[in-house]
Amino acid sequence: MLMPNFPYVRAKSLKEAIQHLSSEGARIHAGGTDLLGCLRDEIFGARKLISLSQLNDLRGIRSMKDGGLRIGALTTIAEVAHHKIIQDRYPALAKAAFEVASPQLRNQGTLGGNICQKPRCWYYRGEFQCLRKGGEKCFAYKGENEFHCIFGSGGICFIVHPSDTAPVLVAYEAMVQVVGPKGTRRIPLEKFHALPSDDVQKETVLKSNEILTDVFLPPPMEGTRSSYRKVRTRRSWDFALAGVALHLRFKGDGVERARVVLSGAAPIPWRSKEVEGAITGRRLDGGTVAQAAEAAVKNAQPLEHNAYKVALFRGLLEEELWAIAKA
Ligand SMILES: Cc1cc2nc3c(=O)[nH]c(=O)nc-3n(C[C@H](O)[C@H](O)[C@H](O)COP(=O)(O)OP(=O)(O)OC[C@H]3O[C@@H](n4cnc5c(N)ncnc54)[C@H](O)[C@@H]3O)c2cc1C
Ligand code: SF4
Repeated sequence: MLMPNFPYVRAKSLKEAIQHLSSEGARIHAGGTDLLGCLRDEIFGARKLISLSQLNDLRGIRSMKDGGLRIGALTTIAEVAHHKIIQDRYPALAKAAFEVASPQLRNQGTLGGNICQKPRCWYYRGEFQCLRKGGEKCFAYKGENEFHCIFGSGGICFIVHPSDTAPVLVAYEAMVQVVGPKGTRRIPLEKFHALPSDDVQKETVLKSNEILTDVFLPPPMEGTRSSYRKVRTRRSWDFALAGVALHLRFKGDGVERARVVLSGAAPIPWRSKEVEGAITGRRLDGGTVAQAAEAAVKNAQPLEHNAYKVALFRGLLEEELWAIAKA
């Protein structure tokens, strides 16, 4: 299918990009690996595309004075995966970035685009005018829902958030910087993605004229270990069927602090406070791990075809908690 015509602007500055974004139907073009497919398949339209490609300030990975890291939104996923400091200090992020798509897509796709990408629900990506596209009903609810969510749908929309990097960044307590006509704001990434109950047509809290410019990682803490594990239906590139990001601080044998975030589980990177509660202040022995794995799925609400995800997450949590205890 041919894409309809639209003006294409290569903004020379952030200010210029934001000015263009204020016009009706304007959209941001970063690496284009998700956006161009959506436009070609007419999932949504654009009256104007604003390319960020000339905004070099939005590229690159820099150490901060406080020991943390700033990653520009236009930094490619491949750069994140290969960066020495990320591999050494935030290994779960390097691992998650390596798990994204294929080498070609990692070279072209950006971290900002990965965090802001659109959902993969096949009804949404197909010709169905579902709730998320402004229609009247969710086709997945009574339809083919084997890859859909088991948490956080609100009974409204059952997408899973598709990014591998976002759950890990939430586990690391990353902040994102957003710039718009009213200035700059920083938001914990944990609060950046929107649930269907907030607004079924939006995946993030970004306003249409705002740009995600940077991701900030806090300095790594003494005694922490982190990991990301992704399960998919096949060995080559694929989105997460189920995944878990762990960021645990140990004191002696015990877990002093825990951040546990699930992917492939919910419309947003899903923080499992149940698992965090089950392991904090405890040794990761057989009893604790079994209780935590059970707690992970206690509140799951599977659909007709995705109940297998309950057992999958239970097993995944069990394996990953054992692995990090022995690391
Ligand atoms: C075949 C295939 C397999 C894939 N597999 C995986 C996978 O396994 N795991 C995974 O995590 N991802 C996967 N992806 C998604 C891929 O990682 C994303 O397409 C990519 O990260 C998007 O980055 P981009 O720079 O190309 O974004 P674009 O396509 O340019 O933009 C994506 C969306 O984000 C918006 N956007 C982009 N940058 C910004 C910004 N700075 N501020 C505000 N909005 C912005 C755009 O307007 C657009 O709506 C896959 C994609 C494909 C096509
Ligand atoms: S799950 Fe969401 S995106 Fe998919 S059909 Fe239902 S409303 Fe649409």
